[in-house]
Amino acid sequence: MQRPLFIRKDAQTLRVPPHFADYERDRRAFSWAAAARALEGLPGGGLNIAHEAVDRHAAGPLAARIALRFVGGGQPPVDLSYAELARLTSRFANGLARLGLRRGERLFILAGRIPETPVAMLGALKAGVVVSPLFAAFGPDPIATRVNLGEGRVLLTTESLYRRKLADWRTRMPGLRQVLVVAEPPAAPSAGPARVAPAIAAEHGVVDYGELMAASAEDFAVERTSVRDPALLHFTSGTTGAPKGAIHCHGAAVAHHATGLYALDLHDEDRYWCTADPGWVTGTAYGILAPLLHGVRSLVDRDEFDAARWYALLEAERISVWYTAPTAIRLLMRAGSQALAGRRFPALRFVASVGEPLNPEAVWWGEQALGLPIHDNWWQTETGGIMIANTPAFEIRPGSMGRPLPGVEAAVVERLAQTHRNGSQRVRIIEAPGVDGELALRVGWPSMFRGYLNDEARYRRCFADGWYLSGDIVRRDADGWYWFVGRGDDVIKAAGHLIGPFEVESALMEHPAVTEAAAIGVPDPVSGEAIKAFVCLKLGTVADEALREDILAHARRRLGPAVAPRAIAFADTLPRTRSGKIMRRLLRARELGLPEGDLSALETAA
Ligand code: ATP
Ligand code: MG
Repeated sequence: MQRPLFIRKDAQTLRVPPHFADYERDRRAFSWAAAARALEGLPGGGLNIAHEAVDRHAAGPLAARIALRFVGGGQPPVDLSYAELARLTSRFANGLARLGLRRGERLFILAGRIPETPVAMLGALKAGVVVSPLFAAFGPDPIATRVNLGEGRVLLTTESLYRRKLADWRTRMPGLRQVLVVAEPPAAPSAGPARVAPAIAAEHGVVDYGELMAASAEDFAVERTSVRDPALLHFTSGTTGAPKGAIHCHGAAVAHHATGLYALDLHDEDRYWCTADPGWVTGTAYGILAPLLHGVRSLVDRDEFDAARWYALLEAERISVWYTAPTAIRLLMRAGSQALAGRRFPALRFVASVGEPLNPEAVWWGEQALGLPIHDNWWQTETGGIMIANTPAFEIRPGSMGRPLPGVEAAVVERLAQTHRNGSQRVRIIEAPGVDGELALRVGWPSMFRGYLNDEARYRRCFADGWYLSGDIVRRDADGWYWFVGRGDDVIKAAGHLIGPFEVESALMEHPAVTEAAAIGVPDPVSGEAIKAFVCLKLGTVADEALREDILAHARRRLGPAVAPRAIAFADTLPRTRSGKIMRRLLRARELGLPEGDLSALETAA
């Protein structure tokens, strides 16, 4: 079927005037100083994320509004208003003081998508404590590695996670002083308030979260943090190597707020749902912080992906702005229209996606299944917030990650072999459109990371001539849209061509039998590297030689013989990080019989 190249702006149901309406004008008018004035600041000076996200709303007309609604987990829904969130986070901040945790020290959170996670995160931020959220699905090894690297002093978890992943490993985390344990809800409501089981509570350094909260006051004077004080420690997904700890400051709130306007088009009356787990930077920055900074109501789903349930939630919760990921979208596509079960989403106004490239098929699928195209956007743990996005201000070019947001200056650059006299990296800006190069961002946006944990040298290597170098290879078209080619580590060099796996994978996914694909380079005596692709098939498809030939022929037609894969392997699943990213490095290592390297971020680590 012939697909349109653009999805025009007026094809979207923009029922409210978008915040971002005129790309050139709004970018010219933008300054980070003005964006910072949209926040309140602390009385007497300073900026604290939790004050902006919670306390200032709790002290105003939004006090009674639902800030967060938690569903799933076999529990009735739990709603927290801004006023309740303010009280609970203050209690928690006082509780941390009782435990002796001081400003600048680190709290780790390993508790999943339960109400205590944002309460602890925001409470710690009030106290100037630095927060590091982890995926609850991590196993004991990745947990201990990160807690030790990040010098975690207190860790918040749940009773069952404590039993399964911490109790026997405490001695491997010698710097951890206390573990705060959230009791599991009692089996019967008549059993009274939940308490941590006595056997666990008696262990050394274990503190019952409920008891600590009950014993702590609900008035707390927020620490006078500044924009440069550290607030969050996020580990990268570990897609290309061992995960790195990126440090972010309270000033990041300015970017979370501004990008909430420009990339997610958040409006006061929105009902928002970000499907990411807080263990991944997206789940914290856009699952907790950005919507709260805007005073909107947002949904947190405690359960794992289920196509039919997700559609039901979108409909029943009347979600208007939805932020999800390509993996989830591909799973919805795979589930077919039965899962949709005739549901309709009249409230839905804006859908966005992040984490991996979004293939054009998925953008068009959105139009058809949800009634809206999907707006892909790009950022990474290091940038702390969305940098390049498809927005309401211009038409979508399916397959493109969009254009730089207001306040973001992007360029395509080439690293030069010749360095500056002091040995630092030099870059050349590639002005010509359509040329592959590394995506660079001009230093100066407020959510930029301020360091890699214990790796100053690596941090310094990320910068050259006033630019942050992202490590991703992109192409900019003549009109200024950016197109993802691949990660620097994943691009394939075959017969003199530089081939991005995304291009190959997108073409493969257009084959009617294919739902997912990953392309890697394998050594080839003639062309240097040849492409091998791993593909997952639609449920019920027979994986035979005829199908393999058909997919290969389709790929050759679409890509030409130089870029088409040489070999195709059928796979049931692809190896992924917890945040859902395909680990091509692992496929490559397995293919070549190399050591598999750091696997702590692998999904099966659960
Ligand atoms: P690691 O740095 O440990 O290898 P990671 O880069 O996957 O892991 P994240 O910071 O979670 O860790 O992911 C950011 C990366 O994800 C980006 O650098 C980019 O490669 C990819 N990415 C994010 N959004 C998009 C997008 N819209 N299109 C293409 N790629 C994207
Ligand atoms: Mg990365």
